[in-house]
Amino acid sequence: MIGFLAGVVSSFCVGGVIVLLWWMRQRDFDKYARRAMEAVEQGQYHVRMFGQHGRRAQAVSESFNHMLQVVESTISQLSQERDVLQHILHSMATGLVYVNHEGKVQMVNEAAERIFKRPREQWVDRAHWVSLRHYSLCVAIDRALLSGTPWRGEMPVSEESLLDVNLIPIPQTARTGIAQDSRYEALLLFNDVSEWRRLERMRSDFIANVSHELRTPIAAIRGFAETLLDDEDADPEIRRSFLQTIFEESKRMGNLVVDLLELSKLEREGQTVQLKDTSLGDIVDKAVRRLAKEAEERNISIEVAPDMETTVWADADKLLQVFLNLIGNAIHYTPQGGRVRIWRDTLVERVRVHVSDNGIGIPEEHQTRVFERFYRVNHDRSRASGGTGLGLAIVKHIVAVHGGEVGVTSRPGQGSDFWFTLAYLMNKEVAGPRLPQ
Ligand code: ADP
Repeated sequence: MIGFLAGVVSSFCVGGVIVLLWWMRQRDFDKYARRAMEAVEQGQYHVRMFGQHGRRAQAVSESFNHMLQVVESTISQLSQERDVLQHILHSMATGLVYVNHEGKVQMVNEAAERIFKRPREQWVDRAHWVSLRHYSLCVAIDRALLSGTPWRGEMPVSEESLLDVNLIPIPQTARTGIAQDSRYEALLLFNDVSEWRRLERMRSDFIANVSHELRTPIAAIRGFAETLLDDEDADPEIRRSFLQTIFEESKRMGNLVVDLLELSKLEREGQTVQLKDTSLGDIVDKAVRRLAKEAEERNISIEVAPDMETTVWADADKLLQVFLNLIGNAIHYTPQGGRVRIWRDTLVERVRVHVSDNGIGIPEEHQTRVFERFYRVNHDRSRASGGTGLGLAIVKHIVAVHGGEVGVTSRPGQGSDFWFTLAYLMNKEVAGPRLPQ
């Protein structure tokens, strides 16, 4: 009997110990699981549950680990996508500003910071009225936030800067997912159109100038031709002089067309000129020979400095054009008996070539403008020499394509010194024949 009782008691004890152990393990597991959950709550998606005994605990651990693996990979994918989007937003040339339904700026990209010259801190969480300070645009934003009305317009930011603004209302449902949400947010896109506008204005000015330049010779040709047609018995001398004028004017029109074509060709092919080792002396020699007759007719001497023989990095045909225009001008704007000099000085890795004359000179206020298209100091003198007003513009363009600069120093009545720079190849002095002086 005693043995039986002892057996019952000991079985109870063993049972109790087992239940106690099971209970303790369960309590430890609950604690362990709670700690793991807390870590996840704090954003530590890399935690895992390990070393659990018991089938239930192991099953729970495995599910927990699997779930976190999925969450972790989804979050990393989302954050990668977000990084790519942020990168795109910040490297866009278009300025972007995002305004929430309360009218506060939520997001600004780098282009917008650059365009408005204001750092992000001065935008975010501020009312758009404070940040943008443009009446029409801010009214349009408020309207877009209230009723979802888009807007497109222009906004000046400074004297030289004009923006094209595109305001796109975005229903808030797109973000909140609440179907009955009727509020709007606003996306603003800013594009700087100042350069485009400037080019457009230049183009229309250019067309107006060309038309103006053509009008004079056309009117002259028409007038003289009409007179000749009306008066068939005109004095042969007068007839000849009218025909001579018609010839001169048509030549001027021809020159204008040639120069215009040259300019447009330069603009088209500007970046593809064939720059190579070129003998500066040879080009000067060629230009001087071509203009020798004209200089002789006007009794003007052309002197070439003895050290012109050097190698420059240039397109030979284009460089010849530069010399023809500069020397041609020097001959035309120098009175009979004058002198034209071609010489150079050497800068660091560059050579500066000068075409100087002792002619009529250019008043200071015109000196910075003579390289503009159709700009003339003395209109009549330019016309008399058959000038088109494009010669120096062509020179400037060609020199720019060579990576050089042009300039002039001049004193009225004493002469002008037109100069330009070119890349100079120091170790390639050409031992060619000396130029005639
Ligand atoms: P143009 O065909 O009228 O000569 P350019 O573009 O070659 O046109 O020159 C622009 C203007 O610059 C000329 O009309 C002239 O007034 C002035 N100019 C150019 N070269 C000289 C010079 N060597 N001396 C004085 N004035 C010059």
